[in-house]
Amino acid sequence: MKLLLHTCCAPCSAAIIEYLLQRDIRPVLFYFNPNISPKEEYEKRKNELDKYTCSIGIKTIDGDYNHELWLNAISGLESEPERGRRCLKCFHFRLFATAKLANDKGFDTVATTLGSSRWKNINQIADAGKSAVEQFPKLTFWDKNWRKEGLTVRRAILLRENGFYNQTYCGCEF
Ligand code: SF4
Repeated sequence: MKLLLHTCCAPCSAAIIEYLLQRDIRPVLFYFNPNISPKEEYEKRKNELDKYTCSIGIKTIDGDYNHELWLNAISGLESEPERGRRCLKCFHFRLFATAKLANDKGFDTVATTLGSSRWKNINQIADAGKSAVEQFPKLTFWDKNWRKEGLTVRRAILLRENGFYNQTYCGCEF
């Protein structure tokens, strides 16, 4: 499997990377989160992730931070509640960019760390991922549930062991 793993942050990624490496899957990470506001918060999460992935020798591709483009994408959905239609659009926006990059670079599989957070609707993430790869016939979206197989416990352990910066919101200004 040639996996491009969309990543939202270090705390959500560490246990997943460990799980993959234990199964001889070496992912390349894609940090693409123009939803995060303010920019300082975006940079903080990116730096934390870079520090960690460098320390374990995992490659991370840095996506652009174009918050205006993201605001345009979710325009009209600002007052939706969390887990509503704005989130579906937001997931699709990030996963479509991931799928496009994966297709351009010759990956065969796309996944995301977004579903490891219990605050997110994993069905919405799976729907967004599947629709994001639709126009790329060689790509599969891997809708693995990262909360099973002890991964939630492992996430908490690695968070503590590494002393990660752990944000208390997903980055949304709404
Ligand atoms: S709440 Fe989080 S997932 Fe939902 S739209 Fe905002 S940034 Fe995206």
